[in-house]
Amino acid sequence: MGEIKIDREKCKGCELCIHFCLNDCIVMEDGFNHKGYRPSLFINVEKCSGCAVCARVCPDVAIEVWR
Ligand code: SF4
Ligand code: SF4
Repeated sequence: MGEIKIDREKCKGCELCIHFCLNDCIVMEDGFNHKGYRPSLFINVEKCSGCAVCARVCPDVAIEVWR
């Protein structure tokens, strides 16, 4: 089991983390951050393996992972 935290103000909504998460743990938020981007949102706590792929692919270093 793992857990991630996405810094929604750092996120630029590129969706890379969503495509690379094999466990479908991340979706796009409905709202926008202060920079005007639609940030990603961690939704599936039970399925997260803590693999940290999402954090590695994030170009804006917006994701922290715990496992
Ligand atoms: S740590 Fe792995 S399983 Fe968890 S959200 Fe990131 S890519 Fe998905
Ligand atoms: S990879 Fe990073 S910048 Fe791109 S949507 Fe995910 S958290 Fe946001």
